[in-house]
Amino acid sequence: MAQAPIIVKKFGGTSVGSIERIEAVASRVAHAVQKGQAPVLAVSAMSGETNRLISLAYQVDPSYRGPAYDMLVASGEQVSIALLAMALEKRGISARPLLAYQLGIQTDSIFSKARIQSVNGAFLVDLCRQGVVPIVAGFQGIDEEFQITTLGRGGSDTTAVALAAAICEETREKCVCEIFTDVTHVYSADPRLVKTAKKIKKLSFEEMMEMAALGSKILHVRCVELAAKYQVPIQVRSSFIEEEGTWIGEEESGMENPVVSAVTHEANTAIFKLFPVPFGPGFLAELFAGLADKGVVVDIITQSQNEEGQRLAFSISNEDIPLAEKYIQQTLSEKVELVKLSNMAKISVVGVGMRNHPGVASRFFKCLDRLDVPVHIVTTSEIKISAVFDGAHLEKSVNAIHKEFGLDQ
Ligand code: ASP
Ligand code: MG
Repeated sequence: MAQAPIIVKKFGGTSVGSIERIEAVASRVAHAVQKGQAPVLAVSAMSGETNRLISLAYQVDPSYRGPAYDMLVASGEQVSIALLAMALEKRGISARPLLAYQLGIQTDSIFSKARIQSVNGAFLVDLCRQGVVPIVAGFQGIDEEFQITTLGRGGSDTTAVALAAAICEETREKCVCEIFTDVTHVYSADPRLVKTAKKIKKLSFEEMMEMAALGSKILHVRCVELAAKYQVPIQVRSSFIEEEGTWIGEEESGMENPVVSAVTHEANTAIFKLFPVPFGPGFLAELFAGLADKGVVVDIITQSQNEEGQRLAFSISNEDIPLAEKYIQQTLSEKVELVKLSNMAKISVVGVGMRNHPGVASRFFKCLDRLDVPVHIVTTSEIKISAVFDGAHLEKSVNAIHKEFGLDQ
């Protein structure tokens, strides 16, 4: 008899947010076992729990980063995997809850932002072959010195993909990763903003990576990067409804890709414009190193030069305005004029089809022009175009661009 296919199933915080929900997940997993699957589970903390733990740490010392912090915030997952294991055992299914050190999820020692280096896939496959369901704590790892590390907020998605990659390496067969969440699909735009947003059936890794980086909150960027690297197919699907979700996988060659697959947006953006700044890249190198050092994440950077001097504009998130402003005022001469634009929004179109269809940029900007939306900064790659403008124009612009590329059809 063929061996049961091993499938990694990741359940996020809302999917295990209460005892009722944990029972529902257990029933669903039991059903999968009865259908002949060998599930490996990756589970987040119950919803709200990680936030609660972070706020406890904050009350003691808001600036603390290090092993004690990671130990604290990783503890939510220990509760959810144990409860889920009990709920499965109650249904007659053998289950083994596993913390990172018990399984062997090795990471580097960058606390709060650790990266997974290896996972003991053989152990997981062994348990599956014995008919045991491994239930792995998401978000956490263990470093060389046996200290608990965490992978960054939303990191359980990354755990799930890393498990699938390790299993695949062990069995030499593809291992699918299902991410159960509170939406049924990835949509062509945020359905809260665009009523005509459509369910997407299939996306390439590259498209999903761009979307994650550009403001789609569904998957962690790092998780998609890892899936692309190890060719782990992901299905994003609902934890509440039995329905096939969105598949994320390798780009299919020869397929007639739509020109644009989705419109994403990120409100909460700010732009800093500086003029005149010293000529040459040395100044830029120093400025951006300094901002990075302060923890300011800079997104788009544009720079232009004429006889009057060098002009610089860059975007950051609204929260980082005070940090960035303070740094700039301390380091730049008073002759440099700083213009701050807060409450901007970034809108992007993403699609691998752009590679073969010229004219996407022109349609995108014509659309914004018809709506009289002044654009401050722009950036493009082979498969995306982004523009930043005043957030007041966001809703009408997202809707118009969604329609322009036929995504409402
Ligand atoms: N519990 C962690 C968080 O809330 C990890 C996760 O849910 O993916 O960020
Ligand atoms: Mg998440």
